[in-house]
Amino acid sequence: MCYHLKAGEHNQYAPLPGSGILLLEQAEVLQVDTAGVVEVGDVAASVGVGGYVGGVGFADCSGAYHIMMPELPEAESIVRALRPHLCGKTLTRVALHRPAIVRAGRRAVVDGRGIGRVIAGVSRSGKRVVIEFTGGARLVVALGMTGRLTVVPTGEPLLKHTHFQARITGTGTELRFRDPRRFGGIWYLDKDEPIAGPRLGPLGPDALSVRLPVFRDLLRRKRQIKALLLDQRAIAGLGNIYCDEALHRTGIHPATRAADLAAEQVKTLLRQIRTVLRSAIRHGGSTFMDYRNADGRPGGFQLEHRAYDRQGQPCRGCGATILRIQVAGRSSHICPSCQRPPR
Ligand SMILES: [Zn+2]
Repeated sequence: MCYHLKAGEHNQYAPLPGSGILLLEQAEVLQVDTAGVVEVGDVAASVGVGGYVGGVGFADCSGAYHIMMPELPEAESIVRALRPHLCGKTLTRVALHRPAIVRAGRRAVVDGRGIGRVIAGVSRSGKRVVIEFTGGARLVVALGMTGRLTVVPTGEPLLKHTHFQARITGTGTELRFRDPRRFGGIWYLDKDEPIAGPRLGPLGPDALSVRLPVFRDLLRRKRQIKALLLDQRAIAGLGNIYCDEALHRTGIHPATRAADLAAEQVKTLLRQIRTVLRSAIRHGGSTFMDYRNADGRPGGFQLEHRAYDRQGQPCRGCGATILRIQVAGRSSHICPSCQRPPR
């Protein structure tokens, strides 16, 4: 049974004219052919999925529903999608529907004083999206579990859980932040205030750009490697999916103590982290385009998964059955043969 995305039926999810790129919002399964609309943020029991629909969700042709929390590649995809819409523009007419979503510098955001300058760039720090204004002030958006930054035509009906909106001058569009679970948030930072500073909490080096010597130092700890990689204070940007993928490709069991890894393993692990993240970034856009266009045809990086969400399926390296186990309080997907448990 296939679930189909029917983006055209929900015009708030239709692509912006001429933009040629979709924001992550559009990758979410909104219409399921068996059960009607699934509003993101609602409980998805009606489509036979236990729990909560959040993150970037999609259904594949096996009927499985996947939920993806934003990790580094998703944040990078958002950044790349936002950049052409925001750079060189200014934000006006800010509306804060839930003021508490702005965790720092609320006044500067509300009165437009802080964010009224021309947008100089859009970048990423770990999983955080950073909108920088000329002069150096920044709006930092943490996506949390379900946060979405989208650009939509002005006047588009407001979806539930939209906490922030601002017009993008001269474009007929506006920027919106929506976050049903509100683990995300918005921080306004002055020119000199560091992104990883006290107000936002510490953030380790970015998983995509961290250098080997720094990575090596980080791993000189007794913690389980998976717990360490998931800790944003140690290294920023990795979540459950890419941790499982990188560890599987390196043949490291997630419960291995970081300090017990051989020098060669550490080197390979970093290389695999980069490979997996780059591959996901590359596939990211095309996946979401496929899912919008292609009537549920699976494509993109979930097909690249070798471990994550493949429990019960054969390992692509050795044929053993992939297991789902608990490590560091999180579900982890491993090949029991390629990833031997620590002694
Ligand atoms: Zn294997």
